Formats: sequence, structure tokens, C-alpha cells
Amino acid sequence: MNDPDCLFCKIVDGQIPSTKVLETDRVLAFRDIKPAAPVHVLVIPKDHHANTAELSRADAGLAAEVLAAAADVADAEGLADPGWRLLANSGDDAGQEVHHVHLHVLGGRPLGPMLSG
Ligand code: AMP
Ligand code: ZN
Repeated sequence: MNDPDCLFCKIVDGQIPSTKVLETDRVLAFRDIKPAAPVHVLVIPKDHHANTAELSRADAGLAAEVLAAAADVADAEGLADPGWRLLANSGDDAGQEVHHVHLHVLGGRPLGPMLSG
């Protein structure tokens, strides 16, 4: 357990269930509980890092593994041809709710403009 109060650390540990779509030694991908698109998968490092800046500065190799896993998820979900979106929220203005870094893999329909407002 990296951070006993962290929701995604609990998912990594299996204390909270998730629908896994990909797992490696250091990376986990699972379906978002409240999907914003037909495909909405979260890709996380198993180690706890708060956001993309902390992850990339602490472990650039792991950041690359998370990015590669997101591309593998997109391929496995059939999104390579129609296209897909990769999104990472950092901090309050972005609306980050879970402070364990995660990449949102979104697709399965035209996703519209990048920002809603
Ligand atoms: P963010 O706003 O970027 O921090 O995204 C957090 C995401 O985690 C949201 O899209 C939530 O729907 C999702 N989420 C919260 N709890 C769970 C859970 N138990 N299993 C899967 N996804 C979750
Ligand atoms: Zn965590």
C-alpha cells in the first residue's frame, strides 16, 4: 500500500474492486466507474504519484510505461483507427478528483471540442 487513504492505491491493492482491462508489473488500467464516453479507461502507475508532473519527475521510465499502456488500451479497445483522446487532470482548475495520477483514455464516438466551456 503506497497511500492508505488513496482510492486508486486501494484499487491497486484489490481492496476496492475494478474492471481491469490491462495489467503489467507496474501499470494498471481499469474502466471508469462513471464513463464519459463509450470507452473510458483509466491508466495508472501502481506506485502512488499525485499527478503527471510528480510522476514524470520522480520516474520518467514509469511515466513512459503509463503512456505506452494507454496506447495499448486504445488499440485493444479498437480506437486506433477512429481515434481517441488522452486526458490528464492536474489540480483544482482541471477538476482533479483523485490525487493518484491517471490518464483517461476516451473514445468510441466523436468526442467534440476539447473543452466544454
Ligand atoms: P479526475 O477528475 O481526473 O481525478 O478523474 C477521476 C475519475 O475517477 C473520474 O472519472 C471518476 O469517475 C473515476 N472514479 C472514481 N472512483 C472510481 C472507482 N472506484 N472506479 C473507477 N473509476 C472511479
Ligand atoms: Zn494512490
